[in-house]
Amino acid sequence: MVHPTFARIDLAVLKANYRAVRAFVAPEAGPAGRHPGLIAVVKANAYGHGAVAVARALEAAGAAMLACADIEEGVRLRRGGVRIPILVFGALSVSDLGGVFEHGLTPTVSSPSAARALQAAAAPRGVRLHCHLKIDTGMNRFGFRHDNLGTTLAAVLASPNLVFDAVYTHFATADQPGHGLFEQQRQRFDAALAALSRLGLGPRPRHAANSAALLRDRRTWLDAVRPGLLLYGLTPASQAAPAGLRLRPVMSLRSRVVAVKGMRPGESAGYGARFTATRPTRVAVVPAGYADGLDVRLAGVGEVLVGGRRVRIVGSVCMDSITIDVTELDVEPGDDVVLIGAQGDDCIDAGEVACWIGTVPHEIMCRVGSRIARVYSGAETGSESS
Ligand SMILES: *Cc1c(COP(=O)(O)O)cnc(C)c1O
Repeated sequence: MVHPTFARIDLAVLKANYRAVRAFVAPEAGPAGRHPGLIAVVKANAYGHGAVAVARALEAAGAAMLACADIEEGVRLRRGGVRIPILVFGALSVSDLGGVFEHGLTPTVSSPSAARALQAAAAPRGVRLHCHLKIDTGMNRFGFRHDNLGTTLAAVLASPNLVFDAVYTHFATADQPGHGLFEQQRQRFDAALAALSRLGLGPRPRHAANSAALLRDRRTWLDAVRPGLLLYGLTPASQAAPAGLRLRPVMSLRSRVVAVKGMRPGESAGYGARFTATRPTRVAVVPAGYADGLDVRLAGVGEVLVGGRRVRIVGSVCMDSITIDVTELDVEPGDDVVLIGAQGDDCIDAGEVACWIGTVPHEIMCRVGSRIARVYSGAETGSESS
């Protein structure tokens, strides 16, 4: 039985987006230039799309490496049958490191204590553990501070059981055009790489760019890029996809009208009586609410598609439902409603929803709730709920 509200995930579109990004970062024809690798980001249940299904589709599309937030996410991917390398972005301090070894994950070394813990876990197992080294160039989150590597890294680089396959950093303001921290971080990363070579770490593959950085400045492509958002078919609000990069949203969120009723002028609808009809009004009830990930701030602001037209969400967003103003339309219970996606000639994407409430498209996708079935198409594996 499928709940009337469900998410449709088109894995063929995901694979096409992956190929489009790969082609976009390929060097122009000519003798110089290498092809940056692509580390496909599938953290947070693949931005709500379902981590295992998405990871397996990307693997089938030829991805060389995936990235997730923590060891637990990495283990889940391995249990789902993913075989390609998996980079773990997050800090390891409160995780069970056993998973790194048992499931062949590639951890990020972002502090001296993480290096010590991994070294201590690798030595008795007699393995040389492949990891990536993270430099903090201004995000002030994970990574070794860029400006005192001499004091923090000497012991780390001497760890006999750790092999540093790559070095990376992460931008804080790539999606804010004109913000100077971006260029500062780029230069600090260059300086950090020079410092690393003085400390004896020879040239290593380098990566830095999330989706926004990749679109903003090709100098950030380096040896690999780390897109998440673009693979799911969206761009940051400030950056339209350039002409050479055609992307389509992978997820759509669909539901159906379950009730329609008339309201007289002066009557209100919903908790808090926040919407009052000023004319004879027809509202339709759609069974999707904040428990399904719809933000309460969409009340009175957000729109959905029904009958090929845009209509406003009126009244409050409830736990399990919203009401929409369908006065102008001929709507009946059972009619299809599109919360995110296309209907007729119109389309609402997660980026537009994010703009209505002042957030990023990542959040809109991640919040699609756990009771929403993900219905997959475009993969050999068929359909799976998660
Ligand atoms: C989430 C994340 C990315 C991908 O970000 P997008 O904006 O989705 O492209 C890349 N690198 C790191 C370290 C991240 O945490």
